Amino acid sequence: MTRAEFHARLAQGPLYLDGATGSNLMKAGMPRGVCAETWILEHPEHLLELQRAYVAAGSQVLIAPTFTTNGLYLAQHGLQDKVGALCRDLVALSRRAAGEKAWVAGDMATLGRADLSYESMLELYTAQAAALKAAGVDLFFVETLMGLEEAMAALEACRMTAEDMPVCCSFSVTADGMLYFGGSVYDAAEQVEGFGADAVGINCSVGPDQLESVVRTLARDLTVPVIAKPNAGMPEIDAAGNAHYSMDAEAFAGHMRRLRDAGARLLGGCCGTEPCYIAALTAAM
Ligand SMILES: [Zn+2]
Repeated sequence: MTRAEFHARLAQGPLYLDGATGSNLMKAGMPRGVCAETWILEHPEHLLELQRAYVAAGSQVLIAPTFTTNGLYLAQHGLQDKVGALCRDLVALSRRAAGEKAWVAGDMATLGRADLSYESMLELYTAQAAALKAAGVDLFFVETLMGLEEAMAALEACRMTAEDMPVCCSFSVTADGMLYFGGSVYDAAEQVEGFGADAVGINCSVGPDQLESVVRTLARDLTVPVIAKPNAGMPEIDAAGNAHYSMDAEAFAGHMRRLRDAGARLLGGCCGTEPCYIAALTAAM
């Protein structure tokens, strides 16, 4: 997809993203601590079932499970030379689930480290972006960003790799709009917009009930479409360390409608959301 095609589509109305991947795969039996990319490819039926359910619920973009297919994370599992092969196979799986009905986004995410140099982040993200482009994604979705520098490095990597492919940049924020590595999402959003991001917003973070003022401010200050892909409320962690999200699908959809009214144009769910949340969301609009 070209950037012009992306913006022409957004001009027609909201674009529906998918919901959570990780928390649903854990429910399906993925153990904590394993390399998610490898587990998904060993049990492809779980991802196919989940993503087909998202398409049936109205998702128009499936986000391929390539969240941590970067050399830094994969090195923890001895797979640092598998960036290309993993991206190829994981994107192919999402493409099977999408069929002709949804776009497939190449997912990139925070590196989780505030101490890396810009050059090393750029190198890691460039390898990932090149692998995703070779795998045939329609657009890039860079999410759960914790700081401005990694956002700029990821965006530069995508732009150098695929000059005319849409890049969405999504930050993880506190309810008062602060980034985990410091600074506010408002400043960061304006900078990545100025640097050429095609959509900017928030994902993960907190529940949609706490994000109305963040979304309203972003929509006021930005000219590109705003993303809202929040969690199903705040998690409660049980004795075994598992996260439980309290907000049900109907409540989630009601709050998402308010975020739509506040100006969000790319709508989806993060941790704790399931296909029924996306079905409720699309029905509520
Ligand atoms: Zn999340």
